Amino acid sequence: MECSINRGPEVINNIAIIGANMAGARAAESLRSAGYDGDIHLIGEEPWRPYERPPLSKEFLWEGGVPSGNFYLHDEHWYAANRVDLRLGVRASAIDLRAGTVTLASGETLQADRILLSTGGAARRLPLPGAEATNVHHLRTLGDATGLAADLRPGAQIVIVGMGVIGAEVAASARRMGCSVTAVEPFAAPMIRALGDRFGAWLGDYHRKQGVRALYGRSVKGLRLSGGRVCAVILDDGEELACDAVVVGIGIVPAVELAKDAGLMLGNGIMVDAQCRTSNPAVFAAGDVADQPDFFGGRVRMETYQNAAEQGAAAAAAMLGQPVEYCRPCWFWSDQYDLNIQVTGRIDAQKQVIMRGRVEDDAFCAFFLSGDLVTGALTANRSADMGVAKRLVERRARVEPARLADPDVPLREILKQSAS
Ligand SMILES: Cc1cc2nc3c(=O)[nH]c(=O)nc-3n(C[C@H](O)[C@H](O)[C@H](O)COP(=O)(O)OP(=O)(O)OC[C@H]3O[C@@H](n4cnc5c(N)ncnc54)[C@H](O)[C@@H]3O)c2cc1C
Repeated sequence: MECSINRGPEVINNIAIIGANMAGARAAESLRSAGYDGDIHLIGEEPWRPYERPPLSKEFLWEGGVPSGNFYLHDEHWYAANRVDLRLGVRASAIDLRAGTVTLASGETLQADRILLSTGGAARRLPLPGAEATNVHHLRTLGDATGLAADLRPGAQIVIVGMGVIGAEVAASARRMGCSVTAVEPFAAPMIRALGDRFGAWLGDYHRKQGVRALYGRSVKGLRLSGGRVCAVILDDGEELACDAVVVGIGIVPAVELAKDAGLMLGNGIMVDAQCRTSNPAVFAAGDVADQPDFFGGRVRMETYQNAAEQGAAAAAAMLGQPVEYCRPCWFWSDQYDLNIQVTGRIDAQKQVIMRGRVEDDAFCAFFLSGDLVTGALTANRSADMGVAKRLVERRARVEPARLADPDVPLREILKQSAS
């Protein structure tokens, strides 16, 4: 067993991971499985050990605010057993690149030969007076979800502000809990940035059929308070929506403060290269906070489970000096009602769209093609198709569009015969 990683004259004995959730925990795990035997400090400002966020808008709410299944990424003994120094409920307040140290809000200073910033992001707050009322929910953490679950009572009137992924998932969960749901969304359909106009319209129709009253092309201008709680949401045209609780899903703000203070290069997040390295060679970043090279060229910041897990692992390898080339197409899923929606690559209305299955049946796979190149895919209740679609996109596969459109040709055959 190695004692530390020796890279020529440089010995890495201390690694500090700031941000103890998906990307940070996967990085810690990967460091140990790669044989790194030095110190690992995993620092998280939340009081809970790393856990799964996806259930927070789904199962966790359906179960009335109780975690179920494999909610935590590791059992509580895993950290000590793997000599991961897990510091919870404490914020890292500064990094000193010259001294190679991380300072905690408690005043303690930790040595760090390498630093990973896996600080994710915070839910963007609704910038209106009253938004801090206890019945206005922003959903990012276990604490947020616990508060929201308590307000999703049968018959409660819930107003959702923003029908992006989180808003649409909470709308579906609230209907499942017997709430009356009204959604306000400035765009013309839910999840329009992720799904595009056509499939956004399909999803909007699905929510309508499930009893969601959605007001598209509208925005929120104010909140009416009564007894310290919001009792109505005021829209741009003056309409007032009476409510028992409000759920705000208007995106996240990447947590770049430490990187900014340390003078690291920022874009739409902390800028990293394909080795997950920031503008300082001893500091890396991964997950929702990282502005990284896009598979299709340019740059992107992803807010997906898969990216956080895989980039966290890639950053671990890179910190140990292993060869890393992390540049993957995006993939994510969303569960709403009985729909499982998955997206990979780029959903671009300008591209040729080839359908398998029918939108009307709520079970289909849409492939997006640039010439004969598969650049993206969207599935609804066809996860097996997504398995193949992901590989077609990752391989930059060239296909015969006519065969892709032919439902009698199995997708696996197309994958086998595709040229990349
Ligand atoms: C409700 C919800 C549902 C989701 N559902 C899906 C889904 O269905 N499919 C999908 O693909 N993705 C989903 N996601 C997205 C996915 O969970 C995220 O992409 C993933 O959690 C990002 O992981 P991360 O480690 O990069 O960041 P985070 O999970 O945000 O973790 C960052 C951690 O760093 C901590 N931190 C920040 N600054 C400091 C500091 N200075 N000191 C110490 N700690 C700090 C934060 O408190 C936080 O705990 C969902 C997200 C949410 C919120």
